[in-house]
Amino acid sequence: MANALEQIKVNSWSRAVPMAALFELTFVCNHACTFCYNCPTGQKEMTTAEAFDALRKMAEFNILYLTLTGGEPLVRRDFFEIAAEARRLGFALRIYTNGFLIDEPMAAKIKQIANPLEIEISLHGARPETHEKLTCVPGSLQKVINAVRNLRAQGIKVNLKVPVTRDNQEEVLDMHRLAIDLGATIVFDPVITPRDDGDKDPVNLMATDDFLRRYWTDPAYAGARREPVPVPRHDAPGEAVCGTGRTAFALDPYGNIFPCVQWRRSAGNIKTVASLRDIWHTSPVLIEVRRTAVEMADKLRDTQQAGKAGGFCNFCLGVADLQLGDPKAIYPQIQKNAEFRQQAYEEWKAKTGETLEDTGGVLSKCAM
Ligand code: SF4
Ligand code: SF4
Repeated sequence: MANALEQIKVNSWSRAVPMAALFELTFVCNHACTFCYNCPTGQKEMTTAEAFDALRKMAEFNILYLTLTGGEPLVRRDFFEIAAEARRLGFALRIYTNGFLIDEPMAAKIKQIANPLEIEISLHGARPETHEKLTCVPGSLQKVINAVRNLRAQGIKVNLKVPVTRDNQEEVLDMHRLAIDLGATIVFDPVITPRDDGDKDPVNLMATDDFLRRYWTDPAYAGARREPVPVPRHDAPGEAVCGTGRTAFALDPYGNIFPCVQWRRSAGNIKTVASLRDIWHTSPVLIEVRRTAVEMADKLRDTQQAGKAGGFCNFCLGVADLQLGDPKAIYPQIQKNAEFRQQAYEEWKAKTGETLEDTGGVLSKCAM
């Protein structure tokens, strides 16, 4: 039985009425990560007044959850003005940051002004040399650790996010222990994606097959995985594979409105649309991505019925489109992970004689 909030989320999904938005405040950053996904174009980023106007339009569109991100959002000199305005308008905030600037006074200011539901910080290794090989900033791992401590001291929930690569794969268990020691949660993502401009270089850093097999099948990694046993996905007929263009949307620093953070097909610009309502149900881009998301769920169901690993794909239409030029093409990273996920599930099934299925419905799908 869904609780009230879950029921609201299910309704948001079925009626394609978004509850959440992600706002990239800037592409400027104080790190120089070797596989940064951002691709600034040199256009002028939104001014404070334009950012306030975007917040107003999102509030009028009844957006409840707002994620402030970048680049590095805290390098914007008006970050706290924007955060204060967002709170005044009633948004529940999340902040994605690299944590570099979060000393004790900054953590206290974040608590006082933004009072976020959660802060997400990127982590790239348990050892300084591993983390800093990626960020190219000496001392950046210690800064992350300090940031988590300072935020936790303010009672702010912190989630660490780790893209798993062949450089940090052998530190996954240490990173998991580090997160527990710091009082943070941690999420590992073993699917590396291309840059937002389609550059596939980051994909070459994908974890090795040997590691992926261990990650999905070895009980030693059960605590680090979000799911102790990978569960086959369940897409009811007519249901979308994910919430792109449906439950949330993303804004870049120039004001472009995207169906989600990964599928960057502009549906308009928030600076020029009078109201988000004007485009949400009429934009050809949004109509098409919603339809494609439903078609893809059908395709994955067919592959699952054929005994293939499709049912174990945490598929992203945006990555498929970026990498292969076809949002419904199964890309190698997701195929590889799906095969090992299926293997882990089959081994568990043979051992226990039990079966599992995803009963989370739309609530367990990517909504951003
Ligand atoms: S911290 Fe994020 S935005 Fe900054 S360079 Fe690294 S990946 Fe890019
Ligand atoms: S799975 Fe990919 S395309 Fe779908 S909502 Fe998530 S990020 Fe967007």
